Amino acid sequence: MQKEMPRSEDMFGFADALGPDKIIHIWKPALGLKAILVVDNVAAGPAIGGTRMAPDVSVEECVRLARAMTFKNAAAGLPHGGAKSVIIGDPAMEPARKEEIIRAFACAIAHFTDYIAGPDMGTNEVAMAWIKDEIGRSVGLPREIGGIPLDEIGVTGFGLSVAAEVAAPFCGLDLEGARIVVQGFGAVGKHAARFLGEKGAVLVGVSDSRGAIADESGIDLAALAKIKEEGGHVGDYRRAKQITPEELVGLACDIWIPAARPDAITGDNVDRLDCKLMLQGANIPVTAEAEVRLAERGILSVPDFVANAGGVICGAVEYRGGTQSGALAVIEEKIRYNTERVLAGARERGCRPREAAVALAEKRVRRAMTLRRGHREA
Ligand code: NAD
Repeated sequence: MQKEMPRSEDMFGFADALGPDKIIHIWKPALGLKAILVVDNVAAGPAIGGTRMAPDVSVEECVRLARAMTFKNAAAGLPHGGAKSVIIGDPAMEPARKEEIIRAFACAIAHFTDYIAGPDMGTNEVAMAWIKDEIGRSVGLPREIGGIPLDEIGVTGFGLSVAAEVAAPFCGLDLEGARIVVQGFGAVGKHAARFLGEKGAVLVGVSDSRGAIADESGIDLAALAKIKEEGGHVGDYRRAKQITPEELVGLACDIWIPAARPDAITGDNVDRLDCKLMLQGANIPVTAEAEVRLAERGILSVPDFVANAGGVICGAVEYRGGTQSGALAVIEEKIRYNTERVLAGARERGCRPREAAVALAEKRVRRAMTLRRGHREA
C-alpha cells in the first residue's frame, strides 16, 4: 500500500540557518543495508564525522550529532565541516556480514565527496580501512595504511592535559601535586591520567564499568594499566580502597574528569562534586542543568568539544598525510589556543565556558559561510 509522504514542512523540520546541508537515507534491499547520512555544514571544508553502527538511531539523533561535529570541528579551528552517519544494525553481527555491510555503505556514500567518515561507536580502524579501500577516503585508519593510531597514542588524553594546563590558572590551581579523579579508565581516561601525571598531578580515584577505587596517596598508573591490559578491571587493583561509583563523584580532588558515558553528572549528583576544575573528556558528560549548577558553585568546567577535540584534530592531520609527532604538535597548539580563548572570553563576558565555546564555534561557521558562494545566509 502507498504510504502517505511527509509534508515538505515536516521534511525540512530540522533546517536552520546553518544546516543540515543534506539528509540522505540509504536503502539497499538486496543487501539489507539501511543507513542515514547527515552532512550538516561544509562551509569550512569537507565534513568529518563518525560512522556509527547501532540498531536504533533516529534521524533526529543523527542531525544533532552532525551539528555537534560542525561545532566541534569549528571550535577546534579545523578546515572541516560537520557530519554524522549511522548504519542501522547490531555492531556485534558476524564479521563477514559486517564487512559486507560497511563496504556497501562506503559505495553508497562514494559520491558525497563532502563527507569523510571516521570511527565511532560500533566501528573501528578496520572498518575505516574498508571504507578507504572502496572509495579512497576516511580517517582513523590503521598505521599500516597511513593511519595515526589515536587511542594507542592517547591523543584525546593528551589534549585534555593541555586544556588542564591552560585552565589551571583560571581556577587558582597548580598541576604539580593536583589530585585528579577519572571516571572511565579507557582510551581517553587512562591517557589523560598519564599525561597529567607527567605534569605532576596525582590520580586519587578512578573507575571503570565494573568498579571504582580511591587512594589519596596516589594510584600507581602503570600497575593499573597492566591489570587492564591483562583483562582485569579497576577493582582488581588491591592497593587502594574499593568505593562505589557514587562515592567517586564526591571524592575530594582538584580535577574531576568524566571519560566514560554521557550524562554522568546531572542535577542529582552535581552538588556532591568536590573539585575546582571539571575537564570534560567524554561527550556530553554533564547535563545542561548540571552545567549551570557547576558555574553557580564556582567549579570551572571546560566543555567537551573544546577539551576532547584531540581525536578529531588527529584525524584531520592524518587526512593530510601528517605524522604522529605532527598530530601531537597541532593538538597542543589548537587546544591551548582554543581553551585560552574560551575561558578568557567567558570571564570577560561573565558567561559560562560552554556559552563562550558555542559562540566561538558558531561565529567561525558563519564567517566561513560568508566566504563561500552558495553558503551565505539569505
Ligand atoms: P573506551 O571504551 O576506551 O573507555 C571507556 C571506559 O569507561 C572503559 O574503561 C569502561 O569500562 C568505562 N565505563 C563505561 N561505563 C562506565 C560507567 N558507567 N562508569 C564508569 N566507567 C564506565 O572509550 P573511550 O574512547 O575512552 O571514550 C570515552 C568517552 O570519550 C566516550 O564518551 C567517547 O565518545 C568520548 N570521546 C572519545 C574520544 C577518543 O579519542 N577515543 C574522543 C572524544 C570523545
